[in-house]
Amino acid sequence: MGSIYSEDALLRRALHFPHCPVAYPTRGNPTAMRFTRREFSKLAALSLAARLAPAAQAHKETTTRKTGYAVIGLGRIAGHFLPAVRGSANSQITGLVSGHRDKADKIAAEYGVPSSSIYNYDNFDDIVHNPAVDAVYVALPNSMHAEYTIRAAKAGKHVLCEKPMSTSVADAEAMIAACKAANVKLMIAYRCHYEPTNLKAIQLIRDGALGQVQAISSTFGGNISAGEWRLNKQLAGGGPLLDLGIYSLNACRYLTGEEPAHISAFASTIDHDGRFNNVEENLTWSMTFPSGIVASCSTSYGAWMPDHYRVYGAKGWLQVDHAFTYEGLQLRAEFSGAKIDEINPARDPSHFVAEAEHFSHCVENNLQPKSPGEEGLRDMQCMVQIYQSAGLST
Ligand code: NAD
Repeated sequence: MGSIYSEDALLRRALHFPHCPVAYPTRGNPTAMRFTRREFSKLAALSLAARLAPAAQAHKETTTRKTGYAVIGLGRIAGHFLPAVRGSANSQITGLVSGHRDKADKIAAEYGVPSSSIYNYDNFDDIVHNPAVDAVYVALPNSMHAEYTIRAAKAGKHVLCEKPMSTSVADAEAMIAACKAANVKLMIAYRCHYEPTNLKAIQLIRDGALGQVQAISSTFGGNISAGEWRLNKQLAGGGPLLDLGIYSLNACRYLTGEEPAHISAFASTIDHDGRFNNVEENLTWSMTFPSGIVASCSTSYGAWMPDHYRVYGAKGWLQVDHAFTYEGLQLRAEFSGAKIDEINPARDPSHFVAEAEHFSHCVENNLQPKSPGEEGLRDMQCMVQIYQSAGLST
C-alpha cells in the first residue's frame, strides 16, 4: 500500500484504515437522511444498543441472497472494502473494474471473481449484462465519481460512491438524477455516520448532557507527498478540503444536526515546491448555525493535524480523537460531574463491513440508504461556499 502523506504515521493510519457505518434502515424520502436531531437520536440509540447487528440480522431473516458488488478502482480504499465485503453477512464481490488487468486478475483469484466479470474503463458498460453484479462501489479519484455513478446507474446497478461525492454541485445533482431515473439506490460512503463513537457523541449532545452546545472545533490535515492525484485539480476537484476537511465539515453538520447559516473562510499556500500549483495548501473556515452554535475548522496538505473534534457546551465538553480514523477512536467528555474516557476496540475493516451491510440491506429490501446522494450534495454545496469565501475558484 503506497503512502499518501509523508512524515506522519498517524495520518497514514487515518487514511488507510477504516471507520464505520452503522446499519439503520430507514424509509421515506431522501432528504430524510440529512441527520436531523431526531434521526441522529434514533441512529445513535440503535447503534449503541445493537451496534452493527440490526441490518445484517434483518437481512438474514428476509433473504439469504448476498448483494454482489463490482469494485471500480482497485486502489487504497478498495483495499479496505474488498476484505470487508468478504467478511460481511450479506455482501460479496462479484465484479472488478480496473485499468490494470494484472492487478484485477490477482484480486479476482483471491475473491473468486470469474474473468468474465472483470471490466476495464472502456468496456465497463457491458456490466449491464451481468446479473451477478447488483451494485458498484466507486473508489476512483474524485472527479471520476460522477461519470462512473451515472454509467453504473444507466446499467441498472445500485451505487455506493466514495466521498467526496463529486467535484461540483452540478455533478452531484446529475448523479442523484441519474440514479433516480434508473430507479437505483445511491449511497455516499460516509463512514462516520455509522460509527459507534461518533454516534455516542451525537447522542450525548442530543440528550443534553453538555447543555446548550456553544462551539465546535475540528481539524484534519496531512503533509502530502508529491505526485498524488490529490494534488491534481482535474482529478481531485480541490485540495485538502475535499479530501480531509470534508470530515470536519460533515461532523459539524451531524453534531449540531443543523445546516450552516454562514460560512467564512481563508486559504493560503506557503510551500512553493510544486505540490500546490493546482490546489490550496491550507484552509481554515468558520461557520455559524441557526441555533447560534459557532464552529471553527482547519485542514491542510502541508502539515499533520489530528483528526478530531471538540464540542463545548454550557454544562461540559466532549472530544473525539482519531474521530475520522478507521480504528482507535477515543471519546472523552466531562459534564455535570460525569467523566467519560473510552476507546472503541473495533478494528479495521469493521467500518467497511457495516457500510456494505447497510447498503446491501437497503438494496435487498428496497430501503433508502442512511447517507444518500443528497447528503453528499449538501457537503458539496458547503464546500463551494467555503472556496468562494476564501477567494478560490471551484
Ligand atoms: P488511490 O489512488 O489509492 O486509488 C484510486 C484508484 O483509481 C487506483 O486503482 C487507480 O488505478 C484508479 N484510477 C483510475 N483512473 C485513474 C486516474 N486517471 N488517475 C489516478 N487513478 C486512477 O486513491 P484512494 O485513496 O483509494 O481514493 C479513492 C477514493 O476514495 C477518493 O475519492 C477518496 O476521497 C476516497 N477515500 C475515502 C476514504 C474513506 O475513508 N472513506 C479514505 C481514502 C480515500
